[in-house]
Amino acid sequence: MKINNILEKKRTLSFEIFPPKKDSTNIESIYKTIDELSELKPDFISVTYGAMGSTTKRTLEIAKYIKNVKHVEALAHLTGINTAHDEVLKICNEFKTENIENIMSLRGDYPIGFSGTPIFKYAQELNEFIKKYYNDDFCLGGGCYPETHLECDNLFDDLNNLKKKQDSGASFFITQVFFDNNYFYRFVREARNIGITVPIIAGIMPITSVKQIRKMSTMCGANVPVSLISMLEKYRDDDLAMAEIGIAYATNQIIDLLANDVDGIHIYTMNKPENAKRIVDSIKNVLKDTKK
Ligand code: FAD
Repeated sequence: MKINNILEKKRTLSFEIFPPKKDSTNIESIYKTIDELSELKPDFISVTYGAMGSTTKRTLEIAKYIKNVKHVEALAHLTGINTAHDEVLKICNEFKTENIENIMSLRGDYPIGFSGTPIFKYAQELNEFIKKYYNDDFCLGGGCYPETHLECDNLFDDLNNLKKKQDSGASFFITQVFFDNNYFYRFVREARNIGITVPIIAGIMPITSVKQIRKMSTMCGANVPVSLISMLEKYRDDDLAMAEIGIAYATNQIIDLLANDVDGIHIYTMNKPENAKRIVDSIKNVLKDTKK
């Protein structure tokens, strides 16, 4: 089923995973992660493409498992910056053969030292290319940035670019991770003001170590509130305590978002299904809305 059709009926709960980093890594471990996440009955599970150093062909392999073995909707990510046109067609043909109907269509980050010309300069161009060849065969999702994309000077230019992404075929957006819901609320309000009408799903990550904090700020540009940093640093030598703090913090964010009628919640699981399970189990009733 296409994710936009699910979103027409209800709020969604979904998870993100990434393929194992090395080709040699046993793929069974990610299958076990998917098995555990599937038990939480998500609306879809997304699998990243080329991010975190993973190999790209595994995205399809893993999406196939999600969709055809676990019978959960799969959202397969695809980045256009460095993927040739014929390769995009090949990948999309494989998605079609495997009945994978949802693509997270992304520009991707410039690789370190990249000096050439991007194949698709913006996600908008990748959307237009996929639409040209496949019309509405796929539901396209896109990324969005409550704290503004790192390459953009200000929120309003970024939102105007996001509007172009919607106009080129994105039928829902998932946000970059954020730790202060006020950024999300402002972002959604301004997005609606300029005619962005598609659902905007909130991306939430339970931070479970001090090490992750710097990564979040540098890689994603997300501000981590001092209160969260202080709590994690206080318990920096206690992995179990840090996990409890990160999970409690993310859970509170989710409760607040649901109470404010968010279109959907997407949990960046970092391939740790136990964290997603702890969140979902602790707010079963609050999450009832996502089960209709
Ligand atoms: P775009 O939407 O193309 O935007 C990139 C920049 O260009 C922005 O600053 C925007 O304002 C500007 N822009 C956009 N369109 C125009 C236009 N028409 N004219 C002028 N300027 C424009 N990366 C991976 O490598 N693999 C993944 O699987 C992955 N998954 C992600 C999932 C989510 C939910 C998110 C939010 C990000 C993900 N990323 C992933 C990271 C993403 O690839 C980077 O953030 C990348 O830098 C931007 O990709 P984009 O598709 O959002 O780009």
